[in-house]
Order: sequence, then C-alpha cells, then structure tokens
Amino acid sequence: MNKPFLLATVLTVATSQLLMVNTAQAQQEQAFAIAIHGGAGTINKSNMSKEKRLAYETKLKQARDTGYALLAEGKSSQAAVIAAIQILEDSPLFNAGKGAVYTFDGEHELDASIMNGKTLNAGAVSGVKTIKSPIALAEKVMEKSVHVMLSGAGAEVFAKQQGLALVDNSYFDTDARYQSLLKAKKKLAEQEKELKDFQAAHKSLGNEYKYGTVGAVALDKSGTLTAGTSTGGMTAKRFGRIGDAPIIGAGTYANNESCAVSATGHGEYFIRYHVAADICARMQYQGISLEKAADVVINDVLVKAGGSGGIIAIDPAGNIAMPFNSTGMYRASKSSNGEEFVGIFKDD
Ligand code: ASP
Repeated sequence: MNKPFLLATVLTVATSQLLMVNTAQAQQEQAFAIAIHGGAGTINKSNMSKEKRLAYETKLKQARDTGYALLAEGKSSQAAVIAAIQILEDSPLFNAGKGAVYTFDGEHELDASIMNGKTLNAGAVSGVKTIKSPIALAEKVMEKSVHVMLSGAGAEVFAKQQGLALVDNSYFDTDARYQSLLKAKKKLAEQEKELKDFQAAHKSLGNEYKYGTVGAVALDKSGTLTAGTSTGGMTAKRFGRIGDAPIIGAGTYANNESCAVSATGHGEYFIRYHVAADICARMQYQGISLEKAADVVINDVLVKAGGSGGIIAIDPAGNIAMPFNSTGMYRASKSSNGEEFVGIFKDD
C-alpha cells in the first residue's frame, strides 16, 4: 500500500469513528421530558383530605410515568401525550372523559385537541357526546382526515368509521359532577332572580363551579414536541358552548421552533388571548425563555384581563414551565435530567 493511500484510509476511518461517537453522544444527550395537568381552579387546600390528595397525586404520577416510559423507550412524544391523557380521561377524578362535567341540560359534551410540533399538523373535536376517548379522536382527525376540527354528530360518524370506542353519554356520569351541576343551577337561579339576566348570572358564577381539564406536553428523543388537551368544559355550559381546549393556539399549541403548551382555565379568556400560541410566539419573536414567556402571559396578561387558569409547557431543550394564577393546578412532570415533580398548590 502506498503512503498517501494509507494516510487517506486512516483518516477516513478515524473521521467516521469520530462521527459515530458524536452521533452516539448526541443521541445520548437529546433530552426528553413530559409534563401533564389535571386542571386548574379554585382548589381549596383546607377541603383537601390526605386521602383525596393521595388519590389525585397517584393518578397524576401514573399518567406521567406511563408517558415518560414511552419516551424513554424511544417512542414519539405524540404516543406519550396520548397515553398520559387517556389515563386521566379514564379516571373519574378529572374533568375529561369519565368524570366530565355536566352541561346545563344534564349531558356531557367533550372537547379535545392535539398538535405535533414538527409537522404542525393538528386535530381537534368539539361537542362530542359518545366518544370514550376524545383525545384518540382528535389524533384520528389529525392523521386520517383532511380537516383540523370536527364537531358534534359529524365527528361521531367519523369516529365510527375509524373504529373508535363509542359509549352512551351516561358512561361519563359521576355523582360528584352531578352534585356540582345541581349546586351551580341553584346558584344561577338565585343570581338570575337578583340580576334579572341569565347571562349576567352565568358570569357571576364562582370559579369553583367552572374548571378542570387534562393535558400533556412532551419532548421525545428525536426532538419533536407534542401538546394535547381533553376536557368536559365548564359546568352548566349552554347552547353548544365550545371552550379553548379544542382551539389550536388557544388551549393547545406545539411548534418545534419554540414550545408546546396545554392550557386549563376559563376558556373564553384563553381563546380571546390566544394563550398557548402567544407563549410560543413570545419565545420565538422576543428570544425570551419559556419560563419568562409563560409567566408573563399567565401572571400578567391574563391576570389583568381577569382570566383565571394555568398552563403546562415544554421547550426543545426539555425545559418545563407550569405557571397558574388560580389557587391550584393538578400537575406533574418528569425529565431525562432526573428532575420530577407532582403537586397541586403554589407551595408544593
Ligand atoms: N378550559 C376549559 C374550558 O374552558 C375548562 C378548564 O380548563 O377547566 O372549557
């Protein structure tokens, strides 16, 4: 072998080995993480028994750890978000799927959405009454339809075509939510008498009657962000009201260039202030951190507007923010850097 050829061969081998080491390191170093929420609102610490708290935290941990395990195996952030949300949808503790709040007319109307931060594809469903897992239907809309949002009866026909599990509306019933409806209606009737106006009465209904929702955001080993949200909406909602949860940009948003967000709170404000997309846009256009962008929108913009609630969010480096301006927000997170959290109140 002549000398220049030998040198070239040695260099080629060395370079390719170096590349392999670098790629392996990059793969090893790609952070992955998940954050989930089970709704924000007036959660009274003094009313929360030890048992109740344990039940919430156990379910939150189960959802978080299920999503995290998928990410650790190298599965997509979309798979992790769906798996985590479905655990919360199936639990009567949260206002999504089983345990969803009642409408004024005593039914359940569910909203959900999902967005993939790499493709910017999104799927959403609103006002569905017989879909066991609304987040699964949102994913089907994203992947198997040419549309972004389907509503009501049409969405249910599509769900049937896609072979999703259908249930009777009574499947979502729980006594606790029914008692909340009765309380809300009693309060509404009293307020209506006093204010002589149903809309004004509805506006004055305290936050304790309103909230709950579930959501998840995740970053996978390929660097893709996903956000998803699922909810029963607000107790005693009327006239086919749709909240922020299925509105892309309001309750859910994901973009690999900035962040992924899932929101919970007084939906009308989250729609008007385009909360989820606003947080991501502030990061992108102002070059500020996720923590700062999320804090400004939730604790300044929304507070000044009178909108109560919170969000969970994650950026491409795996940083997580979970600010809320209500008394509590059920939430949990876990990152490949070893950090994990579960809590309800501000001082948790
Ligand atoms: N944002 C949901 C809605 O307005 C409710 C909630 O998160 O509590 O429908």
